[in-house]
Amino acid sequence: MGSVSAKKGVIVLVPYCLQGHMTPMLQLASILHSKGFSIIVAHTKFSSPNPSDHPEFIFHALPDKLNGFDTSFMNLLNVMEAINSNCGGPLVDYLVEIMKDKGQVISCIIHDAIMYFAEAVASQLNLPSMVLRTSNVAFMESHRDILRLHSENRFPLPDSELENPVPGLDPLRFKDLPVSVSSRIHDKIIEFFESYMNIRSNAAIIWNTTQVLEKYALNKLHHHYKVPSFAVGPFHKMVPASSSTTSYINEDRGCIEWLDKQAPNSVLYMSLGSLSTIDEKELEETAWGLANSDQPFLWVIRPSSVNGSGWIEHLPEGFQEMVGDRGLIVKWAPQKEVLAHPAVGGFWSHCGWNSTLESICEAVPMICRPCFSDQIVNSRYITHVWKVGLELEQPSDRRVVEKTIRRLMVADSEGKEMRQRMLDLKTQIESSVQKGGSSYNSLNDLVNIVLIPLP
Ligand code: UDP
Repeated sequence: MGSVSAKKGVIVLVPYCLQGHMTPMLQLASILHSKGFSIIVAHTKFSSPNPSDHPEFIFHALPDKLNGFDTSFMNLLNVMEAINSNCGGPLVDYLVEIMKDKGQVISCIIHDAIMYFAEAVASQLNLPSMVLRTSNVAFMESHRDILRLHSENRFPLPDSELENPVPGLDPLRFKDLPVSVSSRIHDKIIEFFESYMNIRSNAAIIWNTTQVLEKYALNKLHHHYKVPSFAVGPFHKMVPASSSTTSYINEDRGCIEWLDKQAPNSVLYMSLGSLSTIDEKELEETAWGLANSDQPFLWVIRPSSVNGSGWIEHLPEGFQEMVGDRGLIVKWAPQKEVLAHPAVGGFWSHCGWNSTLESICEAVPMICRPCFSDQIVNSRYITHVWKVGLELEQPSDRRVVEKTIRRLMVADSEGKEMRQRMLDLKTQIESSVQKGGSSYNSLNDLVNIVLIPLP
């Protein structure tokens, strides 16, 4: 174990190991480091970040006993449960070692909401703690409603109710809630939600969101949780420019050279993030719709993201010959750079929260193809609250795909209006992270509260 020299104090960050959670936690680490704090990242051994990408932090791997465990996506709930059961003891031992043996003062533990064991550790050691929520406020609100509906024995909901709006959660319909509401919800899921939503009264919440997008939801949140909450996002616009990559996968930088040769706003960038998968039928319909749209595209297809495939062997025969140089397929792209590239005019996305923020910050309108969980909530907000994207009807055949791409990319009035709304949001977000803006001020409040801990 290395040692840190405490400047303003040491902050121990406890990230959850999926890409969409690790990225914002490491970005928050860079932000707090730039404010003078020393940073320790206490992470699971499983799917650990690369310490050499961040030599300015200390990394400590917590034994998680996941070796030999089924860590597939289908077993995610059990993985999260195992991490929460197995990592508490090792975190206590590690923190005691830092404080007693090395005499370091820990200012605060900041943990991902999924890593709720860290809050119990903070309580046990009498340390201040805060929870980082890597999704948006609307998603957390939807969980509160799921728990309420469960306590009222409303699940499973009849099909006739699915299209109805959820009272108080406008514009979400019951079918947009991030669980399968047509069946009975497993007790394990409810137990997980309860732990994940529980926040001790002397903690605080940090959000990778902004007042620009979620003012109403943030205000509402304050009525339910009487703890301080800091909307400091979008983190990637708050991090110092020199911060290194947070990707687990190697980025194919060749796509930037390819983009350099394309006309402004002409390219549709397509990615379903780090976890979502599609089946062969959807791949085929998407490919032909794309080919028929005549639009240039940059398509991220992760190995094994098309049910069990090695990579692109399930693309339909003749597709690549038909599109030729008009399209480029890569395994993983430098997404933030891609979205900021002048050639990119649209983003076909699964609507993960990081991707949503990254798209809005570059004013790139979206085609929403959510797969599960917060993606469904985010998609509804993109299309019905911020009105900066189109929902892809499901199931979508090649004609729907072609039509939706044209609606977004060809600058008729609908596409133009969405682009303009995106530009307005981008401008407002740029102001919010500048001196005097809401995220800028919220970060200063957060730093002050870490320096003078909550009672
Ligand atoms: N990402 C990337 N390259 C890609 C695809 C995704 O760097 O080819 C990054 C993207 O910029 C985002 C993260 O992976 O920061 C995905 O997070 P998100 O919350 O959007 O979705 P998740 O992967 O959690 O479903």
